[in-house]
Amino acid sequence: MTDLRSVAVWRNGAAVAVPADEAVVTAWDQGLVRGDGAFESVAVLDGGTPHLPAHLARLTRSAALLEIPHPGDDAWRALVGAVLAGWPVDTEGVIRLLLTRGPGDDAPPTALALLAPVPAETVRQRTTGVSVISLSLGVPADFRARAPWLLGGAKTLSYAVNMAAYRHAHSLGADDVVLTSLEGELLEGPTSTVAWAAGGTLHTPPTETGILPGTTVARLFERASAEGWPTARTRATVDDLHAADAVWLLSGVRGAAPVHTLDGVRRGDAGLTSRVRELLAR
Ligand code: PLP
Repeated sequence: MTDLRSVAVWRNGAAVAVPADEAVVTAWDQGLVRGDGAFESVAVLDGGTPHLPAHLARLTRSAALLEIPHPGDDAWRALVGAVLAGWPVDTEGVIRLLLTRGPGDDAPPTALALLAPVPAETVRQRTTGVSVISLSLGVPADFRARAPWLLGGAKTLSYAVNMAAYRHAHSLGADDVVLTSLEGELLEGPTSTVAWAAGGTLHTPPTETGILPGTTVARLFERASAEGWPTARTRATVDDLHAADAVWLLSGVRGAAPVHTLDGVRRGDAGLTSRVRELLAR
């Protein structure tokens, strides 16, 4: 099989495409040494990146929260253009934009773009849905908003805890996770936003809980309310998810994955997933 992966790196003010396996950072890069950086995962659809502006806006916010100099949106657009060159239009992909503090001292930050096909498992989960368990993050829901050192709302490269939550879920036979606060309030998935339908309204937790402001939920809510489907930022618990008409995990690459099992209890979606997908696809 051909290797479709591609990589581009920002060097001396230009986006440079490099072979996918070529080394592009030094061993001293703080992104590698400490996970000190930010990233975005951007969907590639029909050979383009229709949702890039929302991701670039969030990357700018993450860089500001991390106090990492940002190379500017033109640099990211050039990197995206470089990895997309020659990409087959009919292949769905994901571009990871990575920004790290670089090797430190006076060295510039590291900016990279990586492009690969969307994993088959992501496509499967989007189509057939996911079984999810709830796990506590152990942080009070109101804490991160007043604790800037915890970097609530930044999409940092420090995802080791998020990946460990996945492994824990997999060891228990589940696909994914809904993280809750110390008091049991709903937060988010390790790589997704939680949304649910109840009482004729679409709900998602408020960002004051320190969760990542999701670009997919923002798009869904904007389009749903434009169509007269009310939306709300709601503080809720896992019990509210059990009582909901439908629950989804949302993210840019997976879209909307319906939750068919929550903490071992099967649940339906009241036929609402197709409407959510249709709104997201427009
Ligand atoms: N929350 C977390 C922790 C994430 O990592 C992600 C996506 O990767 C999301 C939410 C969903 O964000 P988006 O819809 O912008 O992809």
